Amino acid sequence: MDHQARLISLQGVLNQNRLDALLVSHLPNVRYLCGFTGSAGALLLTEKAAVFFTDGRYTTQARAEVRGARVVIARKASLAAAAEWIASRPGRVVSKGRCRLGVEGQYLSLEDCLQLASTVGSDFRVRPAPALVEEARTIKDSEEIERIRAAAVLAGSLFERILKVLRRGTTEAEVAAEVEYAARTAGAEGMSFPTIIVSGERSALPHGRPGNNPIQSNGFVVCDFGVILSGYCSDRTRTVYVGRPTREARRVYQAVREAQQAAIESVRPGRTAGEVDRVARKVLQGHGLGKYFTHSTGHGVGLEIHEAPRIAAGQSEVLQSGMVITVEPGVYLPGKWGVRIEDMVLVTEQGREVLAPSSTELIAV
Ligand code: ZN
Ligand code: ZN
Repeated sequence: MDHQARLISLQGVLNQNRLDALLVSHLPNVRYLCGFTGSAGALLLTEKAAVFFTDGRYTTQARAEVRGARVVIARKASLAAAAEWIASRPGRVVSKGRCRLGVEGQYLSLEDCLQLASTVGSDFRVRPAPALVEEARTIKDSEEIERIRAAAVLAGSLFERILKVLRRGTTEAEVAAEVEYAARTAGAEGMSFPTIIVSGERSALPHGRPGNNPIQSNGFVVCDFGVILSGYCSDRTRTVYVGRPTREARRVYQAVREAQQAAIESVRPGRTAGEVDRVARKVLQGHGLGKYFTHSTGHGVGLEIHEAPRIAAGQSEVLQSGMVITVEPGVYLPGKWGVRIEDMVLVTEQGREVLAPSSTELIAV
């Protein structure tokens, strides 16, 4: 990963975003920019300087991992250390006048912001910075794509494992535990989010948690899971039927499948995120199921499980080659069951590529 190039390109746009300095504290952003994978650190950028702050627990790790930035090991929290460093060397941050110091307002607490402003003093105007790092992160380079692909392949193999254990009478929690055990033994650093295995009526909860209830016959089980591999996330959903699917179950399942397929085929550079959402929604509306599709169609995936762009109604963000998004329409009939099918899609020059594709045909166990 070319951290130096990422830092330089961000430093190059500070001025046009009316910033003299940017304090990056959201850890996935820190990792993206300078390579640090620990759990405490902050990165200060000016047009010419890059300084990374962490504490004594990470001395060895920071020296081994951080690229393109000077490393400062502090005796206090990284944010406080960065603020004091700025306050004691105002001339290094900006040569003259009042300095515009951007912070990542969506990740900092109000207390952090007030503390920071009071430490740096009146020579600095602390203000929320635009989401510059998140925007850069939407376009994945080839190494990132390979990591994401490997995470998607592993998630694909986990579904095979699910099919071996998911039966009437096993509990949702048992299936989830099996998935997570298999993921860890296959090399995953962890799950990219708490595994969702929800059956029967509970499958109509888009983000239900696995319970200790035995899985019953005659209903769907929504299985939504993903792993973190080499820092990058994957995300996949398959829905299986326990018993013999009714005609209604088949009909709804096929409608969701059709919506997902159509939305995937609509992905290409130049399309907006909102257009892809609309394609999925239109198919379900055509089947009279539009009002049961209660969430957005997808989201970006990378260092974080949910990142930009959002694939949702009205989103004007234009898809570009190198973005990785999910396409995951669903239909949830309250008190009955739900169906969701999700894959990860790479936007390519020619259109799209489903990462680690596998069958979405209805499976009954
Ligand atoms: Zn998912
Ligand atoms: Zn997802």
